[in-house]
Amino acid sequence: MAELYPWLRPQFKQMQALISNGHLAHALVLSGTAGIGKGTLAEALAAALLCKNRQPAGACEECKSCLLRRAGNHADLLVLRSDTQHIGVDAIRQLNNFTHGSAQQHGYRVVIIPLADTMTEAAANALLKTLEEPPPGCFIIVVTSNYSQLSATIRSRCQQWQLNAGNSADITQWLSQQTNKVPPAFLLDYCQGAPLKALKLLTDETADELGAMLALLDQYFGGQLQLASVVKQLDGKTELSGMLGYYLRQRLVQPLDFLRQQAVLAAYQRWCRDATRIIGQNSALALTGLLTELKSLLQHQEAKWKS
Ligand SMILES: [Zn+2]
Repeated sequence: MAELYPWLRPQFKQMQALISNGHLAHALVLSGTAGIGKGTLAEALAAALLCKNRQPAGACEECKSCLLRRAGNHADLLVLRSDTQHIGVDAIRQLNNFTHGSAQQHGYRVVIIPLADTMTEAAANALLKTLEEPPPGCFIIVVTSNYSQLSATIRSRCQQWQLNAGNSADITQWLSQQTNKVPPAFLLDYCQGAPLKALKLLTDETADELGAMLALLDQYFGGQLQLASVVKQLDGKTELSGMLGYYLRQRLVQPLDFLRQQAVLAAYQRWCRDATRIIGQNSALALTGLLTELKSLLQHQEAKWKS
């Protein structure tokens, strides 16, 4: 197995210790922002649980159990996949059958539920009983980027492991080692501290584009760039809604009073919603409308400060 990302190691070490002394919870939630490595940690944990010759660093990668797993062929590992956008009750029934069967390799059985917040209500209900009384030797690893959207009953029955990537200096250093590029200052904030997301944006050069968008927005709101020009340069960019949301939260709304903050965020949300709902919408026109509205909110605030 590839070495674990450095920020995941402390929690993995704790998990290993808990496995060794038999105290690992049978139902766990790994939560944290997208791009932090939850899936990687879930796989490493599953591998360690299934391995017949567990090492201090995790699975041995050589025993029969490890070989079966690496071949994608381990009968005691179930990774729930869904063909639709939701995890439905059928998938959970499959899980329940799996957990109530007996282990093929005379060890633990492990289930990983990725994107667990997409579970339907019926699916969540079908999972409850298994979470309440997990069959002996069975571990259920629930993975989610949206912990608060997970049903409360599921949350209450799982031990939460909240992942975070540690301090930004370490991540920045890690990123520069991976790419030989110095990550721009805004990037980690933009990615909510998720190193893998930041790495992707750095390597596919989206980070450069984001930096350029940020500069354009600064120029527009600082009065150095005309509306038509900023719209022409921003309209149609794939990361536009993400970058605008970031810009509003980080740079624009801070000095505003509460009501204007709410008005700015409401205008932004309306714009996001229209972009997905109104088919054939003139996107340049919609962006022009949004930027005009935001600027007028700012100017009213400035006028109020001066008066
Ligand atoms: Zn092994």
